[in-house]
Amino acid sequence: MELNELYELARELEAAGAEHYEEVCQQIYDYAELGEQEFQSSAYLKEQLEALGFTVTAPIGGLPTAFRAEYGSGHPKVAFLAEYDALPGYGPLKDQNGHACGHNWIAANTFGACDVLRQLYDRHHFTGTIVYMGCPAEEMLGGKVNMVDAGCFDDIDAAMQIHIAGGTETKLAGQSLAIDSVEFTYHGVSSHAAGAPERGVNALDACYLMFDGVNALRQHVTPDARIHGVITNGGLAPNVVPALASSRWFVRAADRKYLNELTQKVINCARGGAMMTGAEMEWRYFENSYDNMKLNRTLIDAMAECMKAAGVENINTAEEAPRGSSDVGNVAWVTPTIACNMGIGNTDGAECHEESFLCNVIGERGFAGLHKAVLSQAFLALRIFTDADMQKELAGQKQAILAERAAR
Ligand SMILES: [Zn+2]
Ligand SMILES: [Zn+2]
Repeated sequence: MELNELYELARELEAAGAEHYEEVCQQIYDYAELGEQEFQSSAYLKEQLEALGFTVTAPIGGLPTAFRAEYGSGHPKVAFLAEYDALPGYGPLKDQNGHACGHNWIAANTFGACDVLRQLYDRHHFTGTIVYMGCPAEEMLGGKVNMVDAGCFDDIDAAMQIHIAGGTETKLAGQSLAIDSVEFTYHGVSSHAAGAPERGVNALDACYLMFDGVNALRQHVTPDARIHGVITNGGLAPNVVPALASSRWFVRAADRKYLNELTQKVINCARGGAMMTGAEMEWRYFENSYDNMKLNRTLIDAMAECMKAAGVENINTAEEAPRGSSDVGNVAWVTPTIACNMGIGNTDGAECHEESFLCNVIGERGFAGLHKAVLSQAFLALRIFTDADMQKELAGQKQAILAERAAR
């Protein structure tokens, strides 16, 4: 069957399932659970997928709310990166969780794509495996890092995600920065700050001398680097020399290899603070380290065509300068991956994480985008499942990515 005919079938199936996908979108929105606590959301999604005949494996990656649901058999194995964690700090009293990043919308668009593909698989239109990858805690922990480290993506041939975004433009080649999250703790000696200052070892001094060191370092980093820190413990009373002080830092760069060097330089600044004051210093990573996004031109170009066929307008495939960091980056370093940002069409300037964006992740506008995202992903997966040349290309890319990862 021609690809165009397959697309037509997919459109019919999507239309038939549309209401169901909207329900999934609304239900995860209503649960609004924070990262690592998405027990109802993940249970609901697993149940829904099992009802469709998917085989569920859970938990995976050492994370209680991570799971994998698959349908079909053999290669290629195409993974849809579902997310379902919400953010805190919304509502009138700012004490409610909300899906201001639209992860409910991602949970639903991946679900819809899997459901459409399942039915096409049943009609013998392709062979391969459809994988719904339940990835928890994107906002807080970066659950995909644990999943990558646990080998959850080792057998995956391609991975995709469509994230929601503010505005009308859809970006297919957004980059993200590699990031290390580092905490430094200094242990000094307390004494009376006026009566016996000579007996004290000032842990807070060590802390801000480190800030001075990092500020000097800034002159000698590449323009993509971002280093930002806060003091999380700076002592308790001015008349007591602080015996304990600590700071937390995000160190970012466009490339993991360079970031590894840069983080070592920041650690050396912290050592300098310790040497200058005589305080003892210890450090640790307090969150997962993310890799930079590795763009895949094959998937970007193919997705642009699929999105056009799905009715998405204003598609931008140019490389975007990186702004933040994402755990999708780690996935992109073990398998060819595409991460898109689909403009949902609001014109009020509201962006993800803002309270005023919440109305876009459900409702008429959110659902209209949802259906285009379902179709875009189903179309791209159909191309991968039915195009032997593309499969070969992706397999070669996977080997190249893994070799580059091992060498960095
Ligand atoms: Zn977010
Ligand atoms: Zn997000």
